[in-house]
Amino acid sequence: MATASRALLPEVEQFLSSGVIAGVVGGDDWAGTSGETFQTRDPGTGEPLAELHAYAAADVDQAVAIANKAFQQSGWATLAPNDRGVRLHRFADLVESRKDIVAQLEAIDAGKLPGAAAGDVQNFIESLRFFADMAQHVQRRSQLAVAGHEAWTLRNPWGACGFIFPWNFPILLMGWGIAPALAAGNTVVVKPAEDTPLASIYVARLARESGMPEGVVNVVPGLGSVAGAALSANAGIKRMSFTGSPEVGRLVGEACGRNLVPVKLELGGKGAAVVFEDVDVEATARQLVGAITFHTGQICCDATRWLIHKSIYPDFVAACKQALDQVSIGYQLDNGTTMGPVVNAKQRDRVLGYVEKGVAEGADAVVPGGAAEVAGKDGYYVKPCLLAGSLDNIAAREEIFGPVAYMATFEQEDEAVAMANDTEYGLANSVWTTDLGRAARVAESMVAGNSWINAHNLFPKGVPYGGVNKSGVGGGVNSIETLFDYWRSQSIVRPL
Ligand code: NAD
Repeated sequence: MATASRALLPEVEQFLSSGVIAGVVGGDDWAGTSGETFQTRDPGTGEPLAELHAYAAADVDQAVAIANKAFQQSGWATLAPNDRGVRLHRFADLVESRKDIVAQLEAIDAGKLPGAAAGDVQNFIESLRFFADMAQHVQRRSQLAVAGHEAWTLRNPWGACGFIFPWNFPILLMGWGIAPALAAGNTVVVKPAEDTPLASIYVARLARESGMPEGVVNVVPGLGSVAGAALSANAGIKRMSFTGSPEVGRLVGEACGRNLVPVKLELGGKGAAVVFEDVDVEATARQLVGAITFHTGQICCDATRWLIHKSIYPDFVAACKQALDQVSIGYQLDNGTTMGPVVNAKQRDRVLGYVEKGVAEGADAVVPGGAAEVAGKDGYYVKPCLLAGSLDNIAAREEIFGPVAYMATFEQEDEAVAMANDTEYGLANSVWTTDLGRAARVAESMVAGNSWINAHNLFPKGVPYGGVNKSGVGGGVNSIETLFDYWRSQSIVRPL
């Protein structure tokens, strides 16, 4: 049972009570010109945390112009890679020194458990360090052996890069996105999700405090339909990156297409976990239950279709029920809570609605789920849910984005692979078996950006992470390929 809450840090209290919070543009805290504001709420209490200035489209355009000017005039783009590395390390060190503050802001804004929020901030710091170091070791000039010519290619940064992020991993995704762009010498304009803008703004202020030149890191708060749409439709953006739903991803892709701006889309998922008969049933059940309850299942690459070998299905279900009995739903800052709220009322209704529709279409509610009550908190809580039955069910086909898994059984390896691949998405799957030959075979047969063996949700730095089909286009994140995305390639030739 959850008990006494952690107190808010004085610096967090101060940030929240500092009046209407402004974005960061050109090194200044800037209110924008719309005169409009929006609120961000604590998902665990439903209460407003802070009010923020909502940027108008013209404000976003101004931020892009300032980021392009900083690219041309601040010296950031032309710094020697090691000098840029020094500055990025300084930024990372400053974020690390304020890690508790950033993590608490993230925890109350996104409904994250403190340990998970701290892990996300650490990931942000490590992304900065990883790409800062990698950029120093990449050959930016490559000599070409061509008859009759002297020729080489050169990697140059693009200019102002745009980023639109979702609410589930605000600070972690910001690190995955902006660290390679900055390390390559670009400037950035970030549109955080309106549900979770606080940590991004705080961190942009730290970029300024660490001595990053003005206009290199800009954060433009506002509504998706206004500020997000303006950023994706701005022809001055040289590269665009969007992380979020396939529906909005299409709009962003269309807008960038019209301007011929290269775009990366990191979208949703409906990942499978294929569990063979030779696993440790209890340990595997515990890990998969951990996957769907971690951040209350609001994870794009989660395992939400569990394909279980028929011979172990009854034992697996029993082990899952046992593991789910240990889940303690509560306010995210309460000691003892192991699963917090979902981000807002809309998301709670979406989760409950999918479970209801799935059951109406014939799914068996093995663990029924439903709304959860947390004493004294008027937040957005749901119970974990396990459904089972035909995979031709809305709850098995569409992304729910909550603590819900859909189970089905298989008998043959080929059958399991076909079931895993029978989806419009293609983000991440896992295979669970002690037969490593089979594991590799199945992992390679899965049609998705990422296949994991005997684990789910693995993101070591240096391993590319991205999606195919409805889960994403245009690249991915987290690896040397991402860094290369943030350089345009130029060839230079001279006849001999
Ligand atoms: P969303 O698509 O609703 O919103 C994402 C962002 O787009 C927000 O900042 C929002 O303000 C902005 N936006 C909204 N309308 C816009 C418009 N018309 N033009 C431009 N921007 C607009 O997604 P969400 O609900 O915040 O996040 C959940 C989704 O994100 C899920 O589908 C999840 O799978 C996906 N996701 C994917 C990854 C990945 O790496 N592939 C990571 C995290 C989340």
